[in-house]
Amino acid sequence: MNHFASVTRVPGDPILSLMEAYRADSHPGKLDLGVGVYKDAQGLTPIPKAVKLAEQSLLETETSKGYIGGHGDPLFTQLLAKLVLGTDNQALTELRAGATQTPGGTGALRLAADFIRHQLPGRGIWLSDPTWPIHESIFAEAGLRVSHYPYVGPDNCLNVEAMLAALNQIPQGDVVLLHACCHNPTGFDLSQADWLRVLEVVKARELLPLIDFAYQGFGDGLEQDAWAVRLFADALPELLITSSCSKNFGLYRERTGALLVCAANTEKLIDIRSQLAFMARNLWSTPPAHGAAVVATILANDDLKALWVDELNHMRQRVASLREGLVAALEPHGLAERFAHISQQRGMFSYTGLSPTQVKRLREDFSIYMVGSGRANVAGIDALRFEQLAQAIAIVCAAPETIMESGSMD
Ligand code: PMP
Repeated sequence: MNHFASVTRVPGDPILSLMEAYRADSHPGKLDLGVGVYKDAQGLTPIPKAVKLAEQSLLETETSKGYIGGHGDPLFTQLLAKLVLGTDNQALTELRAGATQTPGGTGALRLAADFIRHQLPGRGIWLSDPTWPIHESIFAEAGLRVSHYPYVGPDNCLNVEAMLAALNQIPQGDVVLLHACCHNPTGFDLSQADWLRVLEVVKARELLPLIDFAYQGFGDGLEQDAWAVRLFADALPELLITSSCSKNFGLYRERTGALLVCAANTEKLIDIRSQLAFMARNLWSTPPAHGAAVVATILANDDLKALWVDELNHMRQRVASLREGLVAALEPHGLAERFAHISQQRGMFSYTGLSPTQVKRLREDFSIYMVGSGRANVAGIDALRFEQLAQAIAIVCAAPETIMESGSMD
């Protein structure tokens, strides 16, 4: 018997195939605006100096590679919870909030998905349309009913009214996933006034928010980016938050993150944490230690923390200046107004508003790679080649549109 005969091939991750196509492209002026990692002026994804120093210190001081506990490194979870919720957060001081260390933000989302599926049976989850594609598969694969609320429409504008109207129709008790800042893939974030309105609907419909916080420090600053998370944590007794250290600490491959839970009281938090530890045991047993130890070392040391904050500020400011630079370079082509949203969006990503046909032309004619949806990783822009990029965009925008056959990238 051939046991594997029924196994069929699933298409690869479109962003990974884009990376492969980019690598194989021999054009000297090629530009990678596809994959979602920060890049410096040399086009590299750097290891922050604070991380290197913390690693040096760990090399000297680490005495064991024994397992860490199911909830991870207690110093890491304690310091990360404060970074996310704020040092004076009431849920933390009342001992009704806690963090469980996970393999990256993805692990936190997967743990949250299992928790909802098994402990809150019957609850569906609502995702923004569009959202990070992995949200769709994580929750669907965990067996949840996945639905969508409108966020950015075909006109490439944030549509808060449509979002609120949809949230108002969600069945009571369902889970709503919100991006804390730097919305992936669009770059369009809610204003503080919008967040207050979302909170009112969440309260009125008795929804459970799951806030995905993957880019703390990449939007407007470490504290500023946590504004909505802390608003919700102050206003609601119960909340789920997934936090990732991949981007802000540059620890992508170390798989460092956490699932934070705010519960109504300490007893309930202990119940929930017992379930999370059980589920995590079945998913990955115990989380990887290194990235969390690095983050804990940095956050526990004033000098290292100050250095890290500086480096994070630099990354954020670089992306902001690339946004401004691109819009300025589009000005002589009469396109500054059409692409003005690029400088208003936050985080690494921009829904440029370019059509799949235009994205395809950029790739085929100019070796400029972005995701088929028109999502560009702004951090991938080379500041020395603003003109070249702007000119290519102007050419594809001037060309007549053709209907793309289905099956395009993304
Ligand atoms: N949520 C969103 C919105 C993301 O963009 C990402 C990373 N691309 C994650 C979660 C997961 O991050 P990690 O690499 O830490 O798993």
